[in-house]
Amino acid sequence: MFNEIDPILYPDKPVEECGVFGIYAPGLDVARITYYGLYALQHRGQESAGIAVADGSSIELHKGMGLVPEVFAGHSLDKFSGFAAIGHVRYGTTGSSHPLNAQPLVFRYAKGMLGLAHNGNLTNVTELSMQLASTGSVFQSSTDSEVLVNIIARYNANSVEDALMKCMIDVKGAYSLLIMSEDTLYAARDPHGFRPLCLGRLGEGYVVASESCALTTVGATFIRDLEPGEILRIDRSGVTSTPGFKAPCPAHCIFEYIYFARPDSTMDGYNVNKVRREMGRQLAREYLVDADIVIPVPDSGTAAARGYAEEAGIPFEEGLMKNRYIGRTFIQPTQQMRELGVQIKLNPIREVLEGKRVVMVDDSIVRGTTSQKLVSMLREAGAKEVHMVISSPPVLRSCYYGIDTSDENELIAAKMPQEEIRKCIEADGLHYLSLEGLLQIFTPKEEQFCTACFNGNYPVEIPKSNKNAKFSLE
Ligand code: SF4
Repeated sequence: MFNEIDPILYPDKPVEECGVFGIYAPGLDVARITYYGLYALQHRGQESAGIAVADGSSIELHKGMGLVPEVFAGHSLDKFSGFAAIGHVRYGTTGSSHPLNAQPLVFRYAKGMLGLAHNGNLTNVTELSMQLASTGSVFQSSTDSEVLVNIIARYNANSVEDALMKCMIDVKGAYSLLIMSEDTLYAARDPHGFRPLCLGRLGEGYVVASESCALTTVGATFIRDLEPGEILRIDRSGVTSTPGFKAPCPAHCIFEYIYFARPDSTMDGYNVNKVRREMGRQLAREYLVDADIVIPVPDSGTAAARGYAEEAGIPFEEGLMKNRYIGRTFIQPTQQMRELGVQIKLNPIREVLEGKRVVMVDDSIVRGTTSQKLVSMLREAGAKEVHMVISSPPVLRSCYYGIDTSDENELIAAKMPQEEIRKCIEADGLHYLSLEGLLQIFTPKEEQFCTACFNGNYPVEIPKSNKNAKFSLE
């Protein structure tokens, strides 16, 4: 069970933009393992997918638009032979949905070939791309990842590690990176460690992935998370770590725990499922409703709802049934279809809800359209009262570090006070988890998280314009 983030059918949620998977394992079927690794990371991006494989002298690439099985439906993985691979799944924001933006990027430069897979957003990409363009660089995509490619190629006189060290000085923002030459795999995490990245062992080889769920899916054993600013080189001699540059304090994205990551992943020392359950417990300590049942908005609200029910001593029930078999191509993304989407995906169970005072637990409210729809569905199914409790603080600011949280003028909590939101979604009660309560869960490491979308404390300077800092040649 995991977050099946579907930007078409479930438009009122922030969307993660990428997941990466890499392997160095001579003797194993690295392409097929990467395919299954990407499957485990599909929730991080559903727009495009790709795999690049290195065999010691060259890099082969296949990528395209769609889900992992769609992209590889007409392509036999047996065509790939090699001992190292990197893979990528991507969700692109509107306007940048183009096959050229699919990853990995594979390029030739003075010293041979390199492949690159990137998760995160750079915040100074406009300045960097203008500098590069003024000295002759050309770009064929509109992604900030291509800016990274150019910088790494320019700095790579000595080694890829050296280039990445220099890159960390120039480049600002969020990046968990996999880079692959014809015979070596590299992994790097930005100095704040915004996006997750972990290392695992598979037989005699190594695996690196955005989330630990991808390691266990392919039978690998989790070794550790990469440190912020750390660079790993993986080759026939094993793993070599270079400390790189570390920010004074890490800034891991706290929203990974609230919504994006799979509950079976453990990141930077915290299991996602346990954190979500504790969020629910903390919510019940902060806001105890006199109610008959607690229900989740499946799936991302489930662990928090269980925690809430346990702490409050109220029975946990499944009051909304999710249709898990709706493909993303089932309907078109028109406004009318979006509104219908919630109903198609989530169906209330009248026999559970009728005559009950219900606490409904969700992980977040972004624009509020889904919440309003859900409250009304529960009432139509006979619920006597509907109290909405949210296992995160109000989302007030946009993200510039790799998450599409919507523009600030679309965020309902930025536009109106809590009581107005309650009226707007027509709930009998509305409560959010406090930021203090959320951070308590991570004690004594509560300082180590980015919470900018809740309080505007951006750890890295944000771009003056252009919300997602996409470099656009369009
Ligand atoms: S602004 Fe919010 S979504 Fe973006 S990195 Fe920070 S915590 Fe995560």
